[in-house]
Amino acid sequence: MKTSIATVSISGEFEEKLSAIARAGFDGIEIFENDFLAFDRSPAEVGQMVRDHGLTVSLFQPFRDFEGMPEPFRSRNFDRAERKFDLMAELGTDLMLICSNTSPVSLGGIDRAAADFRELGERAAKRGLRVGYEALAWGRHIHDHRDAWEIVRRADHPNIGLILDSFHTLARKIDVNSIRSIPGDRIFIVQLADAPLIEMDLLYWSRHFRNMPGEGDLAVTAFMQAIAATGYDGYLSLEIFNDQFRGGSPEAISRDGRRSLVYLMDQVRRVEPDMRIPVPDMPSRSAVSGIAFVEFAVGDDDGRELEALLQILGFRTVGRHRTKSVTLMRQGEINLVINREEKGFANASYLVHGANAYAFGLMVDDAAGAHARALQLGSEDFRQAVGPGEMQVPAIRGVGGGIVYFLDEKSSLANIWDVEFEPLAETEPSDRTVGLTRIDHLAQTTRYEEMLTWLLFYTSQLATRKTPMVDIIDPAGVVRSQVVETDDGRLRITLNGAENRNTLAGRFIAETFGSGIQHIAFETDDIFATAEALASNGFKSLVISPNYFDDVEVRFGLAPELVERMKAANILYDRDDAGEYFQLYSPTYGEGFFFEIVERRGYAGYGAPNAIFRIASLKRHLRPSGVPR
Ligand code: MG
Ligand code: MG
Repeated sequence: MKTSIATVSISGEFEEKLSAIARAGFDGIEIFENDFLAFDRSPAEVGQMVRDHGLTVSLFQPFRDFEGMPEPFRSRNFDRAERKFDLMAELGTDLMLICSNTSPVSLGGIDRAAADFRELGERAAKRGLRVGYEALAWGRHIHDHRDAWEIVRRADHPNIGLILDSFHTLARKIDVNSIRSIPGDRIFIVQLADAPLIEMDLLYWSRHFRNMPGEGDLAVTAFMQAIAATGYDGYLSLEIFNDQFRGGSPEAISRDGRRSLVYLMDQVRRVEPDMRIPVPDMPSRSAVSGIAFVEFAVGDDDGRELEALLQILGFRTVGRHRTKSVTLMRQGEINLVINREEKGFANASYLVHGANAYAFGLMVDDAAGAHARALQLGSEDFRQAVGPGEMQVPAIRGVGGGIVYFLDEKSSLANIWDVEFEPLAETEPSDRTVGLTRIDHLAQTTRYEEMLTWLLFYTSQLATRKTPMVDIIDPAGVVRSQVVETDDGRLRITLNGAENRNTLAGRFIAETFGSGIQHIAFETDDIFATAEALASNGFKSLVISPNYFDDVEVRFGLAPELVERMKAANILYDRDDAGEYFQLYSPTYGEGFFFEIVERRGYAGYGAPNAIFRIASLKRHLRPSGVPR
């Protein structure tokens, strides 16, 4: 599989881009003329720099407004093309992209365009160069790859071929199966991009909102399946114009790009087994049956504070690590690990972020397979030295420098709690349980610009889907929220992207120096019984404004007695087509972290309409920013 990315897709100085692209594992780059014009090296030096990074120039682009022009423009265009051919020779690339003409002067006519390309093909052949033709979705006469192909076919010249770009085809909703009748060897390069579905001007949409395959809503996989069926085996090249990416980290965006292509081709490989593009063999996306544990990194004082809070929430300490300063607290199927180690990764995380939920374990069908797939997709392996009697649990680096572990039931990993932890005699009263059964969801907060990275991270590795983005209204701004979940809801991760530091989510990122888990929601089968048990444990739930309950009563037509009970226990309510949702919150622990307790009666969402009330209350409880703890 030969992969390439357009230099305009990422930010940075030219050389910085090259190193990021090379490190992410790409084979080539598309050079945009402007990239190059703004740079102070000669074409030959640029070509050499590219090769020094182990990369190839897969394509030089764009050459605009070429075909179907009247004189004197036509002759001038051929002169212009010759000049660019000189440049290409110096750069060391043999392929030029011509995009369909947008000039009001152009005349149209398939045969006229074909004749122009045949003549250009003759000139290119003399220099051993090739020219590919791409239909822009907003081309004046040609805006459909089927018409572009007809021009290439009639030009009938070996040095003239077709360029297909998923954005242009899918944005115009052209049937991708029309690609299947094009010979693979007449396709000179395939450009790939996805985009969120937004109704807007095609040109503006394309120039600002493209994203990596799998990050948007277009049928890029179906497009690529059709390409694979043609026998095409050349470059898969990302051409992504995205304002956010152009301001983002070149390393991260390059890694996302490479990941998106590996993920895309892994999906295509499974339905087009005869395709000629070689793709690394890897296990399929892991089926996740739940969150096996969440681990907190703490110090002495905040560790005590956390354990006290968890005891009130009905958790019991059931195990002590055989060699480390680590304890296990449990309720129902929920395992919480409290790590007070003064060395290792947990401690490093504690020193940087303060007490935080820095790691979690996923129960998957095959832990070793999940780990292998993650590494194929470019995830960073995580390992630290294990002591005698400890197990090496397969793990990778996750969101914001956290850790994701993989456990399964079929290997010795199933016994991890017994192997690594010494069971504790009951030191705490066992009747403090409040009926929490399992983790309903983890909520991770990140910078808005990184949300696509994390959505792709989860969806490419785990058999999950993402829900549409919703806006959470914080009194200080908007937080964008999107969910990664399995069909059966056994894994639910909400990702909240903060655009500014005044929102609760933004403040969490600023105060904890990075993204991470901001809340954990536990499930109960009976939230009113849980609330009662919590109260007898001395739990103080987050107080919700009485105005909320007046509103919710009339909004949903709820029985006044029910609303009275909700109000007494600060239980929020939401409803969707599938059912009802009840939720209550703890006050914040540390710098904006909190727990949530939910009861789902068939409901599929996350109570987004209630977030504004929850955020307002949490903000009232938070210490003023900047005051030392
Ligand atoms: Mg293109
Ligand atoms: Mg929640």
